[in-house]
Amino acid sequence: MNATAPHRLMHIGGGWVDAAAGGRIEAVDPTSEEPIATVPDGDAEDVAAAVTAARGASAAWRDLGWARRAALLRELAARVEAEAEQLARLDVRDAGLPLAGMRGDVAGAVAEIRYYAGIAPETRGSTAPPSPDTLSYTVREPYGVVARIVPFNHPFKFAAGKVGAPLAAGNAVVLKPGEQSSLSALEFARIAADVLPPGVLNVVTGRGATAGAALVAHPDVHRVAFTGSVPSGRAVLRGAADAIKHVTLELGGKNPIIVFPDVDVARAARAAVAGMNIARCTGQSCGSTSRLFVHADIADHFLEALVARLSELRLGDPMDERTEVGPLAFRSHYERVLGHLDTARREGATVAHGGRRPAGYPRGFFVEPTVLTGLEDGMTVVREEIFGPVMAVLTWRDVDEVIRRANATPLGLTANVWTRDLNAAHRTAAALEAGYVYVNGTGRRPTGTPFGGWKSSGLGKENSLEELVSYTREKTVTVTLW
Ligand code: NAD
Repeated sequence: MNATAPHRLMHIGGGWVDAAAGGRIEAVDPTSEEPIATVPDGDAEDVAAAVTAARGASAAWRDLGWARRAALLRELAARVEAEAEQLARLDVRDAGLPLAGMRGDVAGAVAEIRYYAGIAPETRGSTAPPSPDTLSYTVREPYGVVARIVPFNHPFKFAAGKVGAPLAAGNAVVLKPGEQSSLSALEFARIAADVLPPGVLNVVTGRGATAGAALVAHPDVHRVAFTGSVPSGRAVLRGAADAIKHVTLELGGKNPIIVFPDVDVARAARAAVAGMNIARCTGQSCGSTSRLFVHADIADHFLEALVARLSELRLGDPMDERTEVGPLAFRSHYERVLGHLDTARREGATVAHGGRRPAGYPRGFFVEPTVLTGLEDGMTVVREEIFGPVMAVLTWRDVDEVIRRANATPLGLTANVWTRDLNAAHRTAAALEAGYVYVNGTGRRPTGTPFGGWKSSGLGKENSLEELVSYTREKTVTVTLW
């Protein structure tokens, strides 16, 4: 895989093409800070070509039927699996994410494609209540062309895993990866090109404001599925408003974890660190447990255990499979996270652990895993998503009050409850305003459990039957009998 390989071009209609306007985006290794490749900086013209190709391929793909599509998706999953190691290593180089985490990401994408191949026949309709002189039934039809826009933080997992559902449902897809980590999406296109008919999966690289916005606005795209930040999600909704498109959004989080005084403190502290997804993606995770509410009776003990666990994490070269903390994915993001730490200090926070660039790393976008204490709920670091390895620890005494504080955010992606008290667990889970609540287990989501945010964290559900069905539109047919 070198910088001039044909698959460092966009994949449109089964061919490899450069951006019509000729621009390229540089891919930088966040560990060495060296450029490693370039990808096309696609814009509206390239998007138009990709949508035309997808539209041209969509009817034949739909008419293959679910069983044949599912067979091809299983074949695609097997091909990806056969190249898993090199795909994981490419994401490590391109995005700086730890190797063990990226191996997990590729395995996760394979599992997701297989899952949707397995439930493909569930895109079924229904019949209406009986009537003596009519027969009414519904069918679920694919939209035709689906726009799938994904962020930088799980490059391969999102590029590959998130096209499983729309393809299984019978749509052709135009995929746009995050511009900071597009390389593995192009590798996925190369693998898919041997399995899927031309035009069924198209990959356009480029920036959000140009390629992304053009894809959302294209008149032949009726279904937009977006994963990314809240401000971009708003722009996507606006871009889809004129044509009233079906939009689903998987957006950011500032996810609370409420720790009750009856827990095994060491275990809960380890889980809180695991929930940050530091070892998977250096805390650049929408579901990270970044807002901790710890009962005051155990706060000192918990903080000690939290710091002890973070101190164990091995920071270093993400290509070393023992590394648990890599660099952040790109320079402006690294500067943004360090800026958040400056703001926290300025607003009076105490840095209980980490808080800066680690010593001994003259290169690379590294930030130490960090714990902040001495916080007020209104401080920036408690309110805003940081998307890095930064944990804000607050304390509580009254359960109703802590639930109110946990809910006092426009975001509502995930929430976590740690307690041995079954009643408290269920009552708290019921009261939390989040699309996904973990009880005594952060971050582990069994296959098929619907995932998606409440409030400003999103619209719709993914990783489930709901997602598959969302790539179809229901048509009702009434037949009059005589
Ligand atoms: P981002 O919003 O900057 O970009 C995400 C994708 O959207 C990129 O491909 C980008 O090019 C594109 N984009 C940006 N503006 C666009 C526009 N106006 N129209 C169309 N496309 C546009 O997000 P990011 O910085 O890459 O990712 C981090 C964010 O993603 C965080 O907020 C994180 O919480 C969120 N995220 C959410 C989930 C989830 O499942 N809820 C998963 C991962 C990441």
